[in-house]
Amino acid sequence: MSTEEKSCPGNFEDRSDFKKIRERLEKGNERYVKDEPDHPNQSKGRRECTKEKGQEPFAIILSCADSRVPPELIFDTGVSDLFVVRVAGNIANISSIASIEFAIAQLGCQYILVLGHEKCGAVDAAIKGGNAGSDNLNQLVGHILPAVNACNCKSESGLEEVTKENVFHTVDELKRCSTIIRNAVNPEGGKKPTVKIETAYYHLASGKVEFIDKSPCR
Ligand SMILES: [Zn+2]
Repeated sequence: MSTEEKSCPGNFEDRSDFKKIRERLEKGNERYVKDEPDHPNQSKGRRECTKEKGQEPFAIILSCADSRVPPELIFDTGVSDLFVVRVAGNIANISSIASIEFAIAQLGCQYILVLGHEKCGAVDAAIKGGNAGSDNLNQLVGHILPAVNACNCKSESGLEEVTKENVFHTVDELKRCSTIIRNAVNPEGGKKPTVKIETAYYHLASGKVEFIDKSPCR
């Protein structure tokens, strides 16, 4: 019988330990903010091992496509650490939901972070209303309108509030639109949840990820 390790060195030990995952993200972000990144899990050996043994990301990050918000960098992570789903406005649509379902059902991920950010152009477009420039863009912005309405916001001064509300709206949509996510986060019959969803807001200049647990508009 082979004594070979099933997973790669550097992999997160217990992907059901939500507290440790949160700590890992916070510590990585602290290093990024201080300009002292470790750049873990980025070696040739890491690439070879994860090709051979498969990916075991410890967190799913649903974040905006904004080029100033790169999850692997801001959490100081490497290859096979984060399963990153990016779409403008970090919305829950068919593609982002399906990607998350894949990570849960096929890769065994148990932690989701929905990450909004300062000066989000998609949220700004939703606040401004009107035509965003194309049918596709209008459709995307439509996903953010419930957050604009919840905050009763008509001006740019409410951008941060609406962006934070939009993060919580996305969490609601993930659970509403996906049986896999809903059953994992809120299982019936008093069973223990197998997936946890957390929420955060990213500050562009400081690089700080602010974990938030309440919408300012609710
Ligand atoms: Zn954005």
